[in-house]
Amino acid sequence: MKKLRIDKMLGHLGYGTRKEIKQYAKQGMIAVNGEIVKNSSVKVDVEKDVVTFVGEEVHYREFVYILLNKPAGVISATEDHVERTVIDLLDDELRHFEPFPVGRLDKDTVGFLLLTNDGQLAHRLLTPKNDVPKTYFARIDEAVTAADVEAFKEGVTLDDGYETKPAKLELTERPDEIFVTITEGKFHQVKRMFRAVEKEVVYLKRCSMGPLELDEHLREGEYRELTEEEVEALQ
Ligand code: URA
Repeated sequence: MKKLRIDKMLGHLGYGTRKEIKQYAKQGMIAVNGEIVKNSSVKVDVEKDVVTFVGEEVHYREFVYILLNKPAGVISATEDHVERTVIDLLDDELRHFEPFPVGRLDKDTVGFLLLTNDGQLAHRLLTPKNDVPKTYFARIDEAVTAADVEAFKEGVTLDDGYETKPAKLELTERPDEIFVTITEGKFHQVKRMFRAVEKEVVYLKRCSMGPLELDEHLREGEYRELTEEEVEALQ
């Protein structure tokens, strides 16, 4: 059972400010289990009580989970005075839930980005001890060699002296295109790992995180909410 004040419940879903919802209630626009409720501070059980707003049933949910195919040119932040952020790509209904990106992709990196307001889940996915794998497709400025594969397997030393955990490089048909899987999320990690073997990443796309893959139906800049099964898979 989860009890919430009506104004809090409707506010969370984007129906208005607390003050506006108070007025809506006074005007008889809100009903609980078929009875008009004029006081918006009344508490309801969000799982059992049927709340209607001008006759339309209200479906409550606390969390949103959004899979975005991040385009280049936007930053992985919730707000910025200058740059466009990944949150600017969402519609108002989802923005009301105040989602934030789970981890960061560089401005020029594209692909899989999870956005949620579920702090616990985000923490579980990001905490280094959970070793959540993230796979990227990368194009490099020159051919990737068997020696690079070995070096990544051992872990490389970044420019600040940090020794990375082992990472997996999978070669493709093109010598300059590879898949790389890391289980950490240091700043610019993939680019810096390649710099450690004296190469430059020229294109980077995240393909998966943990059990979830980028949905190839989503074009860059498009997003969709995760299915219940996908949310379960992340738990
Ligand atoms: N590694 C990088 O270098 N950049 C990213 O955006 C993600 C991982």
